[in-house]
Amino acid sequence: MPAKRSLGQNFLNGSHYPKRIVASLAPRAGETIIEIGPGQGALTELLLESGAQVCAIELDRELIRPLTERFAHHANFHLIAADALEVNFGEIIAPAATARVVANLPYNVATPILQRLIAQRGCLTELTLMFQREVGERIAARPGGKEYGYLSVLCQFYCQPEKLFDVPPGAFRPVPKVVSSVLRLRVREQPQVVVGDERFFLAIVSALFTQRRKTILNNLKAIRAARQWKDDAQIVDALMTAGIDPHRRAETLTVPEIACLSEALYLATEK
Ligand code: SAM
Repeated sequence: MPAKRSLGQNFLNGSHYPKRIVASLAPRAGETIIEIGPGQGALTELLLESGAQVCAIELDRELIRPLTERFAHHANFHLIAADALEVNFGEIIAPAATARVVANLPYNVATPILQRLIAQRGCLTELTLMFQREVGERIAARPGGKEYGYLSVLCQFYCQPEKLFDVPPGAFRPVPKVVSSVLRLRVREQPQVVVGDERFFLAIVSALFTQRRKTILNNLKAIRAARQWKDDAQIVDALMTAGIDPHRRAETLTVPEIACLSEALYLATEK
């Protein structure tokens, strides 16, 4: 069956990288593992051998029958024909309360899937995910570089990301144009910093990085009316309260600094 570009299908070829990915996950017998996009089953087979309960979510209807034929004799195989962007992860893992996730993510929807996993992190403890290398660099980036942005702050606020290793294009069929990276994101029990309103915090993060070349102050001025802040002085006051120079750029801010700024701005917001 030809791979479908529209579904980001680059299947792992050979056994070296599937073994390496599953070894880094180290699944335990009886635990619940969610696999997003089992494809032709390169990772699934090894996951099933570990004795873990595997909930595999596959969007491509044409892969459902071959996957069923190949793995239906495993009592620990649970195939869900669905879009991972629509699945309620807590429901599919029941009766288990928590699960770990593994996936060679389809490139085209890797970031939205990661955002959905983070949004539903209450039932997830760890995510071992393969991305194209540039996305992996953005997820794990530290302040000060051009990779650091909204995705870095979101991921680091809720998880502890760690790059495990790169995977070369030749490990896939069809061969992609880019190098991939496997990352482990441990879901934090509490966000990195406690903030009063996480949605407000994320809205501020988004605003700060809207125009990367602009200063923090100018990016915040752009949302002043929408946030009903009285005047620019109110924004400057919040920056002073947080001890942040208004002329810095967002890419220099640590997550705790952004949290501190968000708290000060939250207090300035008309309720
Ligand atoms: N895990 C297999 C491997 O490593 O060889 C396949 C990985 S391939 C990069 C991505 C897989 O995700 C494909 O099987 C594709 O059909 C599936 N997929 C794409 N979009 C999806 C979505 N929104 N929800 C679930 N699966 C999806």
